[in-house]
Amino acid sequence: MKYKVNEIFTSVIGEGRWAGTPAAFVRFYGCNLECEYCDTPQATYFELTVDEVVKAVKRTVQHRVVLTGGEPLVHDLEPLTKALFPLLIHLETNGTRSLTGNFNWVSVSPKLTTFSCGDAIKRADEFKFTVPPWNESSIRAFLDTYNIVEKTVLLQPQADGQLIIWENVRKCYDIALRTGWTLSVQLHKLIGVR
Ligand code: SF4
Repeated sequence: MKYKVNEIFTSVIGEGRWAGTPAAFVRFYGCNLECEYCDTPQATYFELTVDEVVKAVKRTVQHRVVLTGGEPLVHDLEPLTKALFPLLIHLETNGTRSLTGNFNWVSVSPKLTTFSCGDAIKRADEFKFTVPPWNESSIRAFLDTYNIVEKTVLLQPQADGQLIIWENVRKCYDIALRTGWTLSVQLHKLIGVR
């Protein structure tokens, strides 16, 4: 079995509850959605076996690894997460696919255009909403539809590629003050790293 991998690199986690924490990143190629504001570079990929991915991750000398994309769950992640153990494994997913593999942290970024979720939603530790297109009322509708309570809700200002749009940051700030949800500015864009 081979995975289509766009890149493997080291950085700090840029979004959500673990922002600022160093990790290795495996960016998978391919996604089942086509969001207008997608900022993921997906031009090329390598075909790598489980062992090749694990070796590349372990060369980064990090204790934590983030599986991201694209959409990682277009692949069967069971063999890879088994082989990566005992590293701490995070998953970043759009939440529309069935969950495969075992994770220490699952971050779901629901998309307004699909407004649907696979079983990753039940395992989610946090939900990241990109604003816009999400706004306060559509986020509330999503949380109500899926009966989501007591999970971390993060408001993520939509950016222009690597550029932060401060008007969107302000929108998220205002929603955060009204609702108690968390403003999550993308740290990696603020400090100019991947
Ligand atoms: S789900 Fe994520 S990776 Fe896929 S198209 Fe949308 S923004 Fe891009």
